[in-house]
Amino acid sequence: MIKIKKTKNTASSPSVKETNPAITEAENALASQWKSFESISNGVFERVLQAFIDNKVGEEHFLSVTGYGHDDLGRDVTDKVFAQALQAESALVRVQMVSGTHALSVALNGTLKAGDIMLSLTGSPYDTLEEVIGLREGNPQSLIAKGIHYDSINPFKDYKFQVPQSAEAEEKVRQCRMAYIQRSRGYSLRPTLTISEIEALCQWARSLNPNAIIMVDNCYGEFVEAHEPTAVGADLMAGSLIKNPGGGIVPTGGYIAGNKDLVDQCAYALTAPGIGREGGYTFDLNRIILQGLFLASSMVLDALKGATLGAYLFEQKGYRIFPHWSAQRGDIIQLIELKSAEKLQRFCQHIQSNSPISANVRPEAATVPGYGDKVVMAGGTFIQGATLELSADGPLREPYAVFLQGGLVYAHSRLTLGKLIQNF
Ligand SMILES: *Cc1c(COP(=O)(O)O)cnc(C)c1O
Repeated sequence: MIKIKKTKNTASSPSVKETNPAITEAENALASQWKSFESISNGVFERVLQAFIDNKVGEEHFLSVTGYGHDDLGRDVTDKVFAQALQAESALVRVQMVSGTHALSVALNGTLKAGDIMLSLTGSPYDTLEEVIGLREGNPQSLIAKGIHYDSINPFKDYKFQVPQSAEAEEKVRQCRMAYIQRSRGYSLRPTLTISEIEALCQWARSLNPNAIIMVDNCYGEFVEAHEPTAVGADLMAGSLIKNPGGGIVPTGGYIAGNKDLVDQCAYALTAPGIGREGGYTFDLNRIILQGLFLASSMVLDALKGATLGAYLFEQKGYRIFPHWSAQRGDIIQLIELKSAEKLQRFCQHIQSNSPISANVRPEAATVPGYGDKVVMAGGTFIQGATLELSADGPLREPYAVFLQGGLVYAHSRLTLGKLIQNF
């Protein structure tokens, strides 16, 4: 706990005395891990800054063009800056993409046609993708309803990743049109893939099927590692602007990045054939999107510090954590097994009541569109559902794992988790 002592009649800054030894101990133990996060973050920042410089971003790019949005220079330069920052040939960054799910859906619908096989190389996809693919009760707009086939192989054994070895898996890859990889664990207990594991999967799939489109769900992974999936063999990837690449300030949108011909097709799927990437009003958000990208690597660094702090504190109290605080990370998510619905609820309520927005709201488990089980969600965030801001959530199912993520300001995670750990 932090006590603030104020001298009586001065307005000078309060002297803050650290009285939570658990935090001090954790920060000491985490120092070398954080050094490695910082060195990755520094490298990413350099690449992001270079993308601004090389693309000659100027104030003229902050203006928007109304109506059709033809010749919106800001939109065009934003696509170029994102492409370079994400190590992709081309990018489509649009506020017309409602969320990460929508960006992924556009990418799938833009590149697959009836008769094609979409093969997940990473087992079950993220909850909201089940409906996009058509794995839940038939939505007439799902991929399966449109005649696209879906299959999956699972490279996780005892929660460890291994490039699949079986002849059956190899045959599936040979037959597929798209090999689909989900980088982050999402709401599952399997580990998040590191970039070197994604590289190994890409090489394996490419060697078996040179023509397959290798696509990555990059949600939550952006800027956590030195390289992005498109730098290690992926053809296409997509993500949300209210997660990592929006730096906490972009109010909506998604991106798709990868090979130009594929990204162009996605643009036609998002708008219309003939319009593609040439149209689309940007609602005066070009500056915010560019500035969000500029801030993103720093926000991701603070989120990683908060995540590992939570991991360390809860491990000390005997809870199982994934990944370990000392492990190499592929995303910003920290999973803590709380083992009871009551603790999961209490954890989320504490995060909510220490949030800048709606601290007085009490989160309860509820059904959320796109998700199967009931979910408890704490997100006292400036931007609705923005999980680069300090937030926690978890589905009401065994082992009652809480998924802790975000924290735009490390001090916020530190303060909130420091208080929280005293009640667990
Ligand atoms: C967040 C996320 C998505 C997309 O979710 P939205 O809430 O629609 O942005 C997809 N896949 C993974 C792994 C995610 O974490």
